[in-house]
Amino acid sequence: MNDGWMGLIVTILAGLALGSFANVIIYRVPRNKSIVRPRSACTTCGNMIPWYDNIPLVSYFVLRGKCRFCKSRISIMYPFVELLTAFLFGMIFIVFGPVLESVWYMSFVFILIITAFVDLEHMIIPQSFVNAGLILAVSGLITFWDNRWISALIGALITAGVLYLAGILGKAMFNKESMGFGDVLLGLITGLFLGWKLSIMMLFLTFCSAAVILLILMAFKKVKTGVHVPFGPFMALGSVLSLFFGEYLIDLYINYVWI
Ligand SMILES: [Zn+2]
Repeated sequence: MNDGWMGLIVTILAGLALGSFANVIIYRVPRNKSIVRPRSACTTCGNMIPWYDNIPLVSYFVLRGKCRFCKSRISIMYPFVELLTAFLFGMIFIVFGPVLESVWYMSFVFILIITAFVDLEHMIIPQSFVNAGLILAVSGLITFWDNRWISALIGALITAGVLYLAGILGKAMFNKESMGFGDVLLGLITGLFLGWKLSIMMLFLTFCSAAVILLILMAFKKVKTGVHVPFGPFMALGSVLSLFFGEYLIDLYINYVWI
């Protein structure tokens, strides 16, 4: 087998393992539980989960989505998060290659995944996620130490600034909190990772996807107007789309719109 395929397979396996860890973080951090101790237990019957029932993706299908002891349903979210992490890690490896930058982007995607799922369920972005994201972003910029840090700072200011203004505007228009401060802090992180160009694309893709998805959900009466909707998941989606397709979309725009 050649090195490229080997690298891709290792990356996907690492993605599955880290996706499994992401599930632990997503469940425990908002409940103020330690992410290292104790070992995983069934959330219904409390039995410890043996290692052979804790293999990413595989165990869920072997157990047919049920606890071995009490037969209660295991949420489909667990294999979904594992699969999503592995898929995005694989995409990064294919798009950016076997370079240190890819590992940096994988850490970015990991932060986006845990943030999106916690925000979706609990409507909060934990401070520890923000801290971890900022540390990962800055340590990458220091490691690469090329001209991208200026672009990164501008990206962070643009993203956080636009979200902050959108929050003020939303409050003035609808007289309620629409954008939380957690979203503004998350904007600092995505801006640092993406740089200014991809940040503008990220904002565009975030607001577009939020509008489209909310309209669809409203049409199917899954959300009511005036109810609070977490914004973190849309920012995560916009960031991932911009990371993979941003450059392409900018080229498209310059070539076909700017003639
Ligand atoms: Zn159980």
